[in-house]
Amino acid sequence: MKTPTLLALTLLLTVACTRPNQPTRLQGEAQGTYYNIAYFDPQHRNLRPQIDSLLHSFDTVASLWVENSLIRQVNRQEQPQLNSTFADLLDKSLAIEQYTQGAFNCKIGALVNLYGFGFKNRDDVTDTQIDSLLHILQQGQCHYQDSSTKDRLILSEGIELDFNAIAQGYAVDLLADMFDQKGIHNYLIDVGGEVTAKGCKPDGSSWTVGIERPAEDKYSQQEIETAIQLNNRSVVTSGSYRKYYEQDGVRYSHTIDPATGRPVNHSLLSVSVASRKAWYADALATAFMVMGLDKSLQFIKLHPENPDIQAVFFIYDDHQGSYKTYATPEFNILIK
Ligand code: AMP
Ligand code: MG
Repeated sequence: MKTPTLLALTLLLTVACTRPNQPTRLQGEAQGTYYNIAYFDPQHRNLRPQIDSLLHSFDTVASLWVENSLIRQVNRQEQPQLNSTFADLLDKSLAIEQYTQGAFNCKIGALVNLYGFGFKNRDDVTDTQIDSLLHILQQGQCHYQDSSTKDRLILSEGIELDFNAIAQGYAVDLLADMFDQKGIHNYLIDVGGEVTAKGCKPDGSSWTVGIERPAEDKYSQQEIETAIQLNNRSVVTSGSYRKYYEQDGVRYSHTIDPATGRPVNHSLLSVSVASRKAWYADALATAFMVMGLDKSLQFIKLHPENPDIQAVFFIYDDHQGSYKTYATPEFNILIK
């Protein structure tokens, strides 16, 4: 779903394994980005064909870059028959929308398109266009024809779905499920910087994952700000410093605030969320980018019962030409 350089926001730190039992490492491309997978399989299977096929079939459901994907058909008002993956993505997205009081909104597609890929049309976007799409977004319909079968969607003309803020994390979870089903319990999966890790290496050490330091600009080399140990958890980063545009010295991110219909432009440079599921971390990281630092911290405080939003790492602009970081106590525990 995301381009390799733009959203490879976390890096794997490769740590030498002293035991002869080396992981199988697979690299490839999917969803417009890369994947990087390491696993210890007692049966030494090459799972590349299964991985590629799973990611490919997921793209035919949720990718906006695949002409005939289900989401593209839905957005063209072709009313295709939906499958259970589509319904699950939509149900999860709508639930997160409600939970985050609208900060996350998968019906934002028409607004994202209005600005154009990479916000290339932004100078031509008028307030009238934004307000009219916002009105449809707020008043329009998006529900199943039959909520028991969930196989057809009623979507108002003018609303377009966009699963990009959740799909990559979701794909990571699908891969993790596949490994679990194959009896592989020690693996690290990274799809475009969205990472999940399970078990450990043969020497008993944890998987280590790096969180990227804010880059000077989108072309800068990736550097690691902090490294965390990840065990049976996922970490996803959403950031504005690789996917952005600049106008009058202000950087605007690729994230849109559904309340205003405009790109978010506060001081947050990136948010990393560690949760049990990658789709959840992905969705919440995007929602926190919309909320900004202060509102996100309030939100986390208001939900002490939710373990999946407690471990969060914020990098923000200090408005003095540099940046600051804030790790919640739960995230601090993960830092190596
Ligand atoms: P992420 O990198 O996971 O934060 O996802 C960002 C992508 O999600 C953008 O490129 C848009 O396609 C889409 N998006 C933008 N704003 C929102 C939003 N408020 N809620 C959900 N998806 C969004
Ligand atoms: Mg996201």
